[in-house]
Amino acid sequence: MNVRKRLLTSHIAVILIVMILFGFFSFQIAKHAVIDKEMEIAEEITSAKADLLTREYQKVPDIDYLSRFLNLYGNDSDLFILLDDNNNIIAPKAVVDNSEILMWLNYLKNNIYDSYGKNHTELNDLTYIWALYPVENTPYKLVYLCADIDKETYPIIKQLMARMLATGIVILWIASWVSLVMSSAISQQLNKQRQKLERQATQDFLTGLANREYLQSTVDKALKGCDSNKKLLLILMDLDHFKLINDTLGHKVGDMLLKQLSDRLKKHFQDAIVISRLGGDEFAFAFFIANNYQAMQKIDKILSIVDRPFAIDSFSLDTKGSIGAAIAPEHGNTAMSLIRRADIAMYQAKESGGGFGIYDHEKDPHSVAHLTLMTDLRHVIENDQLDLFYQPKIDMKSGKITGVEALCRWRHPEQGMIRPDIFIGLAEQIGMIKPITLWVLYVGINQCKKWHRAGIPLGISINLSANLLQDSQLPSRIADALRNEGLPAEYLTLEITETAIMKDPARAMEILKQLDAMGIQLSLDDFGTGYTSLSYLKHLPVNEIKIDKSFVMDMLRDSDDATIVLSIIQLAHSMQREIVAEGIESSEIWDALVTLGCDTAQGFYMAKPMPADELERWLKESQWGLGEEAIAKLA
Ligand code: C2E
Ligand code: CA
Ligand code: CA
Repeated sequence: MNVRKRLLTSHIAVILIVMILFGFFSFQIAKHAVIDKEMEIAEEITSAKADLLTREYQKVPDIDYLSRFLNLYGNDSDLFILLDDNNNIIAPKAVVDNSEILMWLNYLKNNIYDSYGKNHTELNDLTYIWALYPVENTPYKLVYLCADIDKETYPIIKQLMARMLATGIVILWIASWVSLVMSSAISQQLNKQRQKLERQATQDFLTGLANREYLQSTVDKALKGCDSNKKLLLILMDLDHFKLINDTLGHKVGDMLLKQLSDRLKKHFQDAIVISRLGGDEFAFAFFIANNYQAMQKIDKILSIVDRPFAIDSFSLDTKGSIGAAIAPEHGNTAMSLIRRADIAMYQAKESGGGFGIYDHEKDPHSVAHLTLMTDLRHVIENDQLDLFYQPKIDMKSGKITGVEALCRWRHPEQGMIRPDIFIGLAEQIGMIKPITLWVLYVGINQCKKWHRAGIPLGISINLSANLLQDSQLPSRIADALRNEGLPAEYLTLEITETAIMKDPARAMEILKQLDAMGIQLSLDDFGTGYTSLSYLKHLPVNEIKIDKSFVMDMLRDSDDATIVLSIIQLAHSMQREIVAEGIESSEIWDALVTLGCDTAQGFYMAKPMPADELERWLKESQWGLGEEAIAKLA
């Protein structure tokens, strides 16, 4: 039963009960009023009759004579009885002889004869009214008995009741209508309130999108309908630099941006199972998809929608999203597991500056494979599983190699060659990055010295992870390594990322200055992906800037990337810094960079990273290698 019906029936039930109670009490009141009236009349009649009898007795003091006056002016239901001192009935004759009446009188006797005056009693559904009076100056008493008041009084009561019933029905009818109107008004109000509460429990207050709880329950329900042809795509998106917008332009602008974005998302993704704001600048989407290609389409569309500028007050704000996605059933079969995995993918996408990522079991730091990797990584050095590969750096004017970047590889006994992208991050987490970096430093410097001894004066670049830049012992460790091998410091370049410096700029600056003072070359790696301000760059003691490969690889397809590459080159040159471009995969990019005036090049087009012995062959055979003159000197 719905609320409205319940209200209506309870309302009517209450009215009925009230009416029945009202009817009962008013009947009782009416009845007693009639009885009281009857009793008064009985008293009057009796006293009048007693007076009459007194008078007649004075004339003829004979009982038979008196009997004749007994039923004078009486009617059918009335009865006058004369009693003697001992309460024996002595008249009228009809009563004395009527055994039935005598029986009744006998029954009532105790009640009636006790005291003078009026009274009444109920017997067998009848009301008896009587009055007892002494007949003055005679030895008799007079009893008046009205045996049944029903005949006269009940019609009055019935009439009263009929009127009350009619009034009751009218009241009931009106009350029903009133309750009908009231119940529908109340139930409407309740409905509205319920809907509001439901909304509050399932919606995000600011944007009107679903909240986290609703996302979870909806995805869990939707997952029941998944099979091999119908997959569920769960996307998490986080806005880049949203904190910056909030901090610099204020929370109001931040809120307006979130609202505008939510409206766009609602409009463009009506096919979504659910769109949710999980809090802050984090959004989630769920879609049914048939294949992974559709997943990519959805991700592309979301990114492009977020990418369009937002007009807020007088500002035009640009923002970008980072996306992590997980697909059911492959990556999980509960909302929780999908959200967690999409979150891992998003985190990794952010780390690599890639915009989006789809969950990859192998990269998941919580997966069993990963946990095994972590354990194995602790023993990577003692088990001698690290290798160092070298990728040539080519001078763009001469077209010849000037140095190599040392890139480490993990030879895992079961999983084969593991890329540094995977294990360097892990090593940072478990505190293995320092021993690994020191290993790379010793082996790299040792190798470099070997080449120098063989007459190949190459420089060597080594990557320093963020954690190490905070380590005050680092400069002395490096100095030891260089001294042990006898390699002049200027042949060593340390590659540091902007984010590494930004973790603790003051401390990093101190260490960088020490390294610089030692004569070591410093290179700012992956430039363009972080937030180093141009003015800050001026104070950094770096010799070269390495443009991140993501800009270089796309510079011929994407004019924005080309502009970024050009401005970085111009900026670096204006500050007398060398420029290295990495990620050159084609002769066209090489040519373009030559035109832009880039100094040094690194990329698969010239050479991939390779082991030392392979590099030695390459140095002799490749057009980018040492050149005939240098080779001749070697021999
Ligand atoms: P990175 O410092 O940016 O190194 C350059 C990466 O770009 C290398 O990947 C290299 O193989 C790759 N690369 C070079 N040319 C091209 C190209 O033309 N196309 C493409 N697609 N890629 C190219 P790798 O060796 O997988 O290393 C990845 C990252 O791992 C490195 O990025 C570096 O950040 C880190 N890493 C590698 N070795 C070490 C190390 O010994 N210590 C530390 N801390 N990090 C390391
Ligand atoms: Ca590097
Ligand atoms: Ca790089």
